[in-house]
Amino acid sequence: MSWPDNWIARLDGSECSLCAEGRPENPARGPRIYAGARCDAYLARSGTQPGWATVIWRGGHVTEPTDLSEDDSVEFWREVLTVGRAMQTHFQAFKMNYSILGNRTPHLHAIIAVRFEDDVAAGEPIPASEKSVFPRADVARDAEALKRLLSSPD
Ligand SMILES: [Zn+2]
Repeated sequence: MSWPDNWIARLDGSECSLCAEGRPENPARGPRIYAGARCDAYLARSGTQPGWATVIWRGGHVTEPTDLSEDDSVEFWREVLTVGRAMQTHFQAFKMNYSILGNRTPHLHAIIAVRFEDDVAAGEPIPASEKSVFPRADVARDAEALKRLLSSPD
């Protein structure tokens, strides 16, 4: 394994797919469930098990959370936790996982994954290898419910 050929350009933002896409409502990864002041969140259409979302920083190209200003870091975490709280409630989580990796797309984003009592990998991190496409109707129903939760005042 090695870093992609254009890794430096991904790091510096000149070839960043998340900067290039703008703030789409319905990209391939899944429907947008939250459009905040500085972040968008998308419910995944595929993966190892349903119930995970990506919260993407939209305040310009940033690689690490440590690159954010004090005010921006507060806003980033506030929005991540807002989405996490809605996911926790909607999916009746047994446990929540939050991760910031960016090893393929080094633009700041957090993965929020719900863990279930009958989880695919109870007691362990979710394996990335077993990828399946979730039923379209389930994703649409969950996305609508999450949008409602996320649009009501806290
Ligand atoms: Zn970027």
